[in-house]
Amino acid sequence: MSIPSNNEKSNQNEPQPAELEETAKRKCKLDKAQLAKKAAEGVNPKLGKRIGGCRSWISLDLLEHLKTHEKARRVRKTYSCDVNKFCPVCAWDNAQEVSKDLRGRLAALKKAGIEYQQIFLTLTVRNCALDKLRQTLAAMSVGWRRLMQTKRWKEAVTGGFFRGTEYIGDRTPKGQAHPHFHAILLVSSSYFKGSSYINHDEWVQMWRKAMRLDYDPVVGVERITERRRKHQDEVAAAVAEVAKYSVTPSTIERLTSKEFGLLYKQTKGLRQFAYGGELAQILPLLEPDDFNSEEWKALGIELWSWGAGRYVLSRRD
Ligand SMILES: [Zn+2]
Repeated sequence: MSIPSNNEKSNQNEPQPAELEETAKRKCKLDKAQLAKKAAEGVNPKLGKRIGGCRSWISLDLLEHLKTHEKARRVRKTYSCDVNKFCPVCAWDNAQEVSKDLRGRLAALKKAGIEYQQIFLTLTVRNCALDKLRQTLAAMSVGWRRLMQTKRWKEAVTGGFFRGTEYIGDRTPKGQAHPHFHAILLVSSSYFKGSSYINHDEWVQMWRKAMRLDYDPVVGVERITERRRKHQDEVAAAVAEVAKYSVTPSTIERLTSKEFGLLYKQTKGLRQFAYGGELAQILPLLEPDDFNSEEWKALGIELWSWGAGRYVLSRRD
């Protein structure tokens, strides 16, 4: 896809629309991590080109609300690299979609009158060498399946789960990977008072056994309530924690091209997110579309191009 050139100098002064700010922020992270260069050198030039062109231009619909005359912009078309695991722009976009889907499923369960409590579970193993990541993730996947087959899990996790995988932490030493799972588990409403309750020590032992480890792994378990804490909805915070980067942009920044190439190959084709149980079965309740075509009319189209850390207006029709 060709990238439109910016040939009208006067447009350089147009402020970047608020609707593009978040994308611009992520695009800066992509540039700072030199991801396109690392992908070209560490994987192949084609992938580098693909990532380098991600959101290098965005066309927007200009809209006006028919009653309130409020003005808004909506993305009409863009080019995305879709390297969801590593591109800071696409990973963020994907996380928004995944969170929306999960919220829709939780809302659908609630609407159906099925009440669940939620717990937030983090399962880790000791760090492995970067070139052993794939093998370690495969073992963790088997471990998760074994965990799900235990009587204790079946009694406790009655509503299913949503799980995300992270590969490297921000403080993981060079040359190593820190694969771990974050998961939201749906447990029955009597879980915290009944015999199906699993305490932290038991989770550690269950994960150790499922993974066939000869040490006690680091495990985190927390109850998620619907309360608001520190101005944030706990459920939304947990959803965001699971549906986030598999590797943060600052970690990618620290990787050499060779290390990035290795990470890319080690995780190629692997799914970052997984659903299970009732949560996997239920259809998400859709959130209303912000731009219902019966309420908004189109005023025009703008084309914005990426240059020097921000989007610059190239054309307005
Ligand atoms: Zn991208």
